[in-house]
Amino acid sequence: MRAQPKASHFIDGDYVEDTAGAVFESIYPATGEVIARLHAATPAIVERAVASAKKAQVEWARMSPTARGRILKRAAEIMRERNEELSHLETLDTGKPIQETIVADPTSGADSFEFFGGVAGAALNGEHIPLGADWAYTKRIPLGVCVGIGAWNYPQQIACWKGAPALICGNAMVFKPSENTPLGALKIAEILIEAGLPRGLYNVIQGDRSTGPLLVNHPDVNKVSLTGSVPTGRKVAEAAAGALKHVTMELGGKSPLIVFDDADIDSAVGGAMLGNFYSTGQVCSNGTRVFVQKSVKGEFLKRLKARTEAITIGDPEDYATQMGPVINRAQQEKILGYIEKGKAEGATLVTGGSIPNAVSADGCYIQPTVFADVTDGMTIAREEIFGPVMCVLDFDNEAEVLERANATEFGLSGGVFTSDMTRAHRVVDQLEAGTVWINTYNLCPVEIPFGGVKQSGFGRENSLAAINHYSELKTVYVAMGKVEAPY
Ligand code: NAD
Repeated sequence: MRAQPKASHFIDGDYVEDTAGAVFESIYPATGEVIARLHAATPAIVERAVASAKKAQVEWARMSPTARGRILKRAAEIMRERNEELSHLETLDTGKPIQETIVADPTSGADSFEFFGGVAGAALNGEHIPLGADWAYTKRIPLGVCVGIGAWNYPQQIACWKGAPALICGNAMVFKPSENTPLGALKIAEILIEAGLPRGLYNVIQGDRSTGPLLVNHPDVNKVSLTGSVPTGRKVAEAAAGALKHVTMELGGKSPLIVFDDADIDSAVGGAMLGNFYSTGQVCSNGTRVFVQKSVKGEFLKRLKARTEAITIGDPEDYATQMGPVINRAQQEKILGYIEKGKAEGATLVTGGSIPNAVSADGCYIQPTVFADVTDGMTIAREEIFGPVMCVLDFDNEAEVLERANATEFGLSGGVFTSDMTRAHRVVDQLEAGTVWINTYNLCPVEIPFGGVKQSGFGRENSLAAINHYSELKTVYVAMGKVEAPY
């Protein structure tokens, strides 16, 4: 097995195994090959991971933020030095093409360690508040043990996006990757130790939806950050609310991407393709409802069809491949089911719609698919598909498209393509979404906050905003005179 780690879990600075845990296989989605065999965490492993994190956190919180930051920045350097090896592992873990992982996965994780490592010395300061003779000050204090639970689409990035802000604020993290992509986070844990992180501060344990609750409900866990679907988010938020734990919820979406008739059509087509086909469509912020103004619909679809049919699908380990498989057979079947629904409900299939011929039947491939003439009520326009399926909807005017774009329970992202900047700002101002892009799509550098509104979640990752979600304020009132009591 070509990606077998030393053991399933990483706790207190070492690989740890507990063979009493249920066996599960890590499968390379491009071929069906078993690349690793692991054990899910037993309650004893969960206990050990949380206890080690709790113990290590006390000393870590006493270190200066700059000293903590230095370790994170070193981890960023190691990740960049090993980008090729880490990207290859990410490709095996997810099936995403190496052409993508080499530029988007370990590198964006490294960005996160570098950013939070760099801002540590200034971002954790408190305030001095003058009150006449008296005064007060605030201290930014860590939450304690934070749990990170990841989705399968960006395993290394998610492990870092949660780990970096948690650690810099003086917390410890126990991270549980998706059962579909268990491998990348173990390497991140290893690299953090190599960079000098004291043992126990970043533990990784494996498991699925039955392991998650053991972590969420653990009395020594103070915060849970989940990246996953809305139904999982509801369950995790409910469990965390019972014990009043802090939560960050990065959930799903059905985001609108609006193309006005004055847009640069090639850019709009490129943005729509990036926002539907990158990572084989398995991106939470994807602009899966592409609203195109009627007068440019014909030209938009013509160029979109040609460029979509030119996408190179195939072996993810080949640098020429632009699109790999989806994560597993169940997801492939679910997506094909949505495609059938789209046809049955009357959408026009512009291109794609089935399994490509030129790839291994053992892989979980799907052609990049475009539907036109999609209407708001169709299933494919309402539900998150999480695959390479783009829905193109027509619209007449700005007021109408805004109302339709916002008519969804989700609110993760949105985009607008237009050359009229006044209109662009007017439209993004009214879109109900956590992140909106003007004349581009899906760019998420670490410097900008990322997260959703409505059912897409709450809390923000990345940027200085993330500091607020991994720390809290302690206020200290300092009296300079005698106490004047009325009794
Ligand atoms: P999922 O909800 O099935 O699983 C996510 C994680 O939660 C997994 O690690 C899983 O084991 C765990 N889990 C499941 N049930 C749990 C429970 N009851 N308690 C605790 N943990 C539990 O999601 P997925 O299918 O792995 O990922 C796809 C979803 O993630 C999509 O909806 C996508 O939009 C979303 N996503 C969101 C973002 C974001 O930043 N907003 C990023 C990537 C993916």
